[in-house]
Amino acid sequence: MNFKEIVQPSSLEEAYEFLANHQKSVIIGGGVFLRLQKREADLGIDLSHLSLSYINNGAREYHIGAMTTLRDIETSGFLPKCMVESVRQTGGVGLRNMVTIGGSVCGKYPFSDINTALLSLGARLIFFKKGEIAMERFLGGNYMLNDILISIVVPKVDYSTCRYFKHTYTDFSLVNISVSSGENVRIAVGARPGRSVLVQDINTKHTSEELLDQIEFKDDIRGSGAYRRHIAEVMLSEILEEGLLWK
Ligand SMILES: Cc1cc2nc3c(=O)[nH]c(=O)nc-3n(C[C@H](O)[C@H](O)[C@H](O)COP(=O)(O)OP(=O)(O)OC[C@H]3O[C@@H](n4cnc5c(N)ncnc54)[C@H](O)[C@@H]3O)c2cc1C
Repeated sequence: MNFKEIVQPSSLEEAYEFLANHQKSVIIGGGVFLRLQKREADLGIDLSHLSLSYINNGAREYHIGAMTTLRDIETSGFLPKCMVESVRQTGGVGLRNMVTIGGSVCGKYPFSDINTALLSLGARLIFFKKGEIAMERFLGGNYMLNDILISIVVPKVDYSTCRYFKHTYTDFSLVNISVSSGENVRIAVGARPGRSVLVQDINTKHTSEELLDQIEFKDDIRGSGAYRRHIAEVMLSEILEEGLLWK
């Protein structure tokens, strides 16, 4: 992507003013995915001077700033296992040092590993103008964003884990699964290749095949929907066999 001008606001108010007053403006997170796009924008709004890179370990929740990198998440040492594991094979360390959690969420990428983890954890997104939006609602909706993601709130859970299947180490996932249990059990499936979705009406007596029956898997260049479904069933049955998901 080419920008005619790039600004580095020093407050969220200033950043939002730029966004609201310039029709062809684009927020820059890590800038890694934007860099690949072949289009022009009048204004790039770089959020790197807004102190949005942090991970706060609260009593019941984690608060993660939108500019926190995937490498910070990987090396935090205390975030839920499914989050940490979900980013371990996102490119190499160099890429994870640049890519931000805010850019990953706002891109709503259908191949995203971390968005599946965040969905399974029941994360909530805090936007500058719109306030709080549940991850589930955000991924499900098609509305124009035109807002700045400030932080992500991740509830603490008793247990979480994830699985993903890639053709090669740093490739996009063919399919991914993330689960968590705390107040309730949540199972999310992503890279189907559509955006991550939650398994609804979870029955602890169901097999992985029955649990995933309602999830739609599709064909793309990486594999067929039927192949994806089979891999997802195997990954979920592996998780169920560990016996840690149901209380
Ligand atoms: C080579 C390569 C391999 C990858 N492999 C994987 C992989 O295996 N698994 C995986 O899950 N992901 C993968 N990704 C995607 C990556 O993890 C990030 O999700 C992606 O690069 C976006 O993060 P970013 O910080 O670069 O965002 P940017 O490129 O800066 O922004 C992405 C979008 O989000 C918007 N945005 C950014 N921050 C905000 C904010 N705070 N508020 C509002 N809007 C915002 C931008 O305007 C833009 O539309 C890969 C990317 C690349 C380039």
